[in-house]
Amino acid sequence: MAFSFGLEKEKANSRLTRFYKHEIKDNSLMIVTCLDLEGVLVPEIWIAFAEKTGIEKLRLTTRDIPDYNELMRGRLKILDENNIKLSDIEDVIRGIAPLPGAKEFLSWLESEFQVIILSDTFNQFAGPLMAQLDYPTLFCHDLIVDEAGRIADYRLRIPDAKTKAVAALKRINLKVIAAGDSYNDTGMLKEADAGILFRAPDNVVEEFPQFPLTQTYEEFKITIIEASKKLGG
Ligand SMILES: [Mg+2]
Repeated sequence: MAFSFGLEKEKANSRLTRFYKHEIKDNSLMIVTCLDLEGVLVPEIWIAFAEKTGIEKLRLTTRDIPDYNELMRGRLKILDENNIKLSDIEDVIRGIAPLPGAKEFLSWLESEFQVIILSDTFNQFAGPLMAQLDYPTLFCHDLIVDEAGRIADYRLRIPDAKTKAVAALKRINLKVIAAGDSYNDTGMLKEADAGILFRAPDNVVEEFPQFPLTQTYEEFKITIIEASKKLGG
């Protein structure tokens, strides 16, 4: 659409600048940012569920029980003991909001880069939260739910899914910036062209000093922009 003469000069200038910027951009470089979900954009789902239900044992995370399969078996057993169905968890998750500022941060990120959320959560849990984040692309795992709505089991799409997703993106000639907060992110952070920690606990920060640590979404943005510039973006 042509600019109308009635358009304010300032607006016209800003639109022209944007147009020009896009015109000269080197499209041969495409950067994908891969973000962890829990602890980065939304609260820890199991901890939030434990708080809402008062079932303390569900507060355990991979920080307490490093073996993920052992942790998940334990969680499913607790759900059975308390006769908790998937719909009960979904009801609670619907009441959980993204972290303050997360939605604005994500929408900025999507305006600048391609974004994929790589999470070790389950599609069934993430659904209500994805709706609140305007449905970003999410790769995660699946729960196996029986006819009565009981969570019978879970299915990991592939072991070490985050690291493998980043490696696959690199193989199709994409540059990857990965960011997360926990041990299960460090594989993808190492695999990526640039890795960033966001609000990581002290033990992770100490063990992985090679990754810059960010605490606010503003710092996170600046660190992502710096990383993209180093990659030639
Ligand atoms: Mg996390």
